[in-house]
Amino acid sequence: LAWRNHSSPPTVHTHTRQTATTKRQVRHTHRTPPTVHTHTQSPNNYHQETGKRDTHILVHVGFLTEESGDVFSPKVLKGGPLGEMVQWADILTALHVLGHNLKISMSVKELQGFLGVPPGRGSCPLTGPLPFDLIYTDYHGMQQMKQHMGLSLKRHKCHIRVIDTFGTEPAYNHEDYATLHGYRTNWGYWNLNSRQYMTMFPHTPDNSFMGFVSEELNDTEKSSIMQNKVNNMAVVYGKEASMWKGKEGFLQILHRYMEVHGTVYYETQRPPEVPAYVKNHGLLPQHELQTLLRKAKLFIGFGFPYEGPAPLEAIANGCIYLQPKFHPPHSSLNHEFFRGKPTSREVSSQHPYAEQYIGRPHVMTVDYNNSQEFDSAIREIMSTKVEPYLPYEYTCEGMLERVHAYIQHQVGSPLLASQEGQSCVEACQRANLVCEPALFRFVNNKEALRGLEVQCEVVEAEVNHVFPAFSVLRRECGLQKDPLLYSCAGLSPKYRRLCPCRDYRRGQVALCRDCL
Ligand code: UDP
Repeated sequence: LAWRNHSSPPTVHTHTRQTATTKRQVRHTHRTPPTVHTHTQSPNNYHQETGKRDTHILVHVGFLTEESGDVFSPKVLKGGPLGEMVQWADILTALHVLGHNLKISMSVKELQGFLGVPPGRGSCPLTGPLPFDLIYTDYHGMQQMKQHMGLSLKRHKCHIRVIDTFGTEPAYNHEDYATLHGYRTNWGYWNLNSRQYMTMFPHTPDNSFMGFVSEELNDTEKSSIMQNKVNNMAVVYGKEASMWKGKEGFLQILHRYMEVHGTVYYETQRPPEVPAYVKNHGLLPQHELQTLLRKAKLFIGFGFPYEGPAPLEAIANGCIYLQPKFHPPHSSLNHEFFRGKPTSREVSSQHPYAEQYIGRPHVMTVDYNNSQEFDSAIREIMSTKVEPYLPYEYTCEGMLERVHAYIQHQVGSPLLASQEGQSCVEACQRANLVCEPALFRFVNNKEALRGLEVQCEVVEAEVNHVFPAFSVLRRECGLQKDPLLYSCAGLSPKYRRLCPCRDYRRGQVALCRDCL
């Protein structure tokens, strides 16, 4: 996982571990507890009212496990990877609120228990079907699953979703291509469908955008915030003292106009990087940080950390976010922090999402090396009135809508094997689904055959309208050579077919259930 606070890829170490509960206390004191939906379950695991199958989900938070080296856990209460904690907390909450059957693992032992791997037999590959429809994990978790599931990880790969802050581009994900063209990194080349990587911001449509939730305000709260804004109050983005290093010049200019506040973690003494005129509050509980942001006019970034949740929270509380533009943009090709990460994306400022998707008047991205530009930005901010703003995709509703749609579309389309002499039309129908020809291209491969545990002595690609299919008797498997021949209707007494099916709207079968 391309951490914003720590940049090394997963390795396996053993350290002592804090309890997960302590970690989760850091934030989210303001969140309403999730509502528990009681589902009426029919014997075949389909919900009686909605007709949807109950989705079994495992969330394995790899970076919090002892086995990941415990580099993150000890830092959690000291200003550690809070952004990632926010995202995991919101993923868990969303999955729970959506009513899924959820299991959470924070250690390799729990992971093994859930996957049905007997204790002490770590290398014994999981046999039989996977007990989950989906597994949310991270790069650390992938490594651990590879170790403990062996070859069966390959078979079950399509059920995995990797929470990956900065994203993984296709060139880095594709093993053969990465090897041939120099895109191999230590994060791995997992040969997933690139949409299985889920990012914190919508970096590229190659990956899926998972995001997180920020507090949404009602109109009364918004107007009271606007009335109580203190025009000369600034909060600095940077909870670790190191983030303030070398920024004295900018802080001086800022201090000429404004009262400067900080939330820098410290144990006993004030960190020397934080000038004496700064009101340092230390790391604040979430609601106190909110109160501070509600009063402040300016939230100012000095270039690090990259792409975190805090600027969105500040903007949602009516602050203007001021940040440095990067000339040239930072990327894995020119910047230490991104080096070795599986993306060549060019990061144009500290928070490109804020720059590109929000922009003025809420966000100002300026060249900090030009002190005149910096100076006039501060003066402009003090005299500009802005309303609190939160993009819909970062509200509770936006996140729930998105996570729900991903699960419906990704789990709502299973792969089935027909019987001999049965078409895909019929095979899907039997499962209360319809055959979806657009999905044939995803199942026309060896992995799909492996997923169904088909024994193939030979696999050949042919022009044959019943392919992809397999013959149990002859142990022969056939893939489709001509995409124009993908057929739901085709059938042959010799073959069992690979059928991609999806759900449908009652009375409007052309559309899937959540397609509108
Ligand atoms: N945060 C907090 N108290 C503080 C500072 C930060 O609760 O004193 C929260 C903040 O609201 C945000 C998260 O910690 O939700 C961290 O966000 P940031 O953008 O700083 O990302 P990070 O670098 O920690 O991943």
